[in-house]
Amino acid sequence: MIKVGVNGYGVIGKRVAYAITKQDDMELVGIAKTKPDFNAMTAIEKNHDVYCSIPENIGLFERRGMEIRGTINDLIEKCDVIVDATPGKIGAKNKPLYEKAGIKAIFEGGEKADTVQCSFNALCNYEEAIGKDYVRVVSCNTTGLARTIRPMLDIADIGRIRAVLVRRAADPVQSKKGPINAIVPVTKVPSHHGPDLKTVLPNIDIVSMAVAVPTTIMHLHTIMVELKDNISKDEIIEAWGKTPRVKLISSEDGFISTAEIMEYARALGRYMGDLYEIPVWEDATNIKDNELYYIQAVHQESDVVPENIDAIRAITGIEKNARKSIEKTNKSLGIR
Ligand code: NAP
Repeated sequence: MIKVGVNGYGVIGKRVAYAITKQDDMELVGIAKTKPDFNAMTAIEKNHDVYCSIPENIGLFERRGMEIRGTINDLIEKCDVIVDATPGKIGAKNKPLYEKAGIKAIFEGGEKADTVQCSFNALCNYEEAIGKDYVRVVSCNTTGLARTIRPMLDIADIGRIRAVLVRRAADPVQSKKGPINAIVPVTKVPSHHGPDLKTVLPNIDIVSMAVAVPTTIMHLHTIMVELKDNISKDEIIEAWGKTPRVKLISSEDGFISTAEIMEYARALGRYMGDLYEIPVWEDATNIKDNELYYIQAVHQESDVVPENIDAIRAITGIEKNARKSIEKTNKSLGIR
């Protein structure tokens, strides 16, 4: 059993911690928090051992009556791997802690690619991560792009990819973020998402732009792909249909927006009502003048969760076959 600790128990950390508890080849040793809030309360109620990531803050937990097991250093000592799900750029600051203890760590998409030995997406470059000490699971948006672009590379000769990302303003829990009544262009053009995707799919040609809109439940991507050969829409749909963690949907089934997708996800009854798969509108997919057009959505809070589990298997080398790890993770999380 691989012993795993999760540093940071927020939007991503709590979901990764849950997913670890569903695996039979790894165990959750504990989680680390800086402060005793409702997330710490959740962890305690779920019988997770809670550690304090800022040693001077131990007294804060004691004052709130929350029992903790020690500091982040105590957690690190008991683990083979740490999943660092702290806010962007904090992971890089934490890295020396893991290096000093000689343990492996997985970072999230808010960290820069040069913090680690390789970025990670299970479908794209699982093998590259085998045996590495420090990897970064690419962001929710990049994971979404990777899932639907990677299978196309097996069946078509593709040219430039253009992606316009419509980003959620905030996660549902973020009461202080916005906008709540505006559309905000990301004025760094092209956006960072294209180069980020190239960290796991280096040989593609992609440019991206983004805007943020007042919604919390999902991102949405509109994607255009130049096709250099005569591939049909049906062949592309068939390839997505065979790709793990991609879900074909249609407006004919009532999926007319991200709202119905998340209603469907909540009814599936998975942890937190999550949707790990990338839904792609089959009926919005079309080819015109050798250019493929399609629209997909991303449940930003959860699509990276199964990738974290696969990343743990890859860096520890307990499973060297990407497909086998993907299948095992999918089965454990109810992903069909
Ligand atoms: P989050 O909800 O803000 O949670 C961050 C966690 O890290 C909290 O438990 C927080 O603990 C802890 N933390 C804060 N400051 C810390 C510090 N100095 N040292 C140690 N722990 C600290 O963040 P998140 O949204 O889960 O994001 C985590 C990572 O995942 C980021 O790299 C982000 O870019 C990436 N990501 C996020 C999303 C998304 O949609 N949210 C999607 C994909 C990837 P306290 O609350 O106790 O301070």
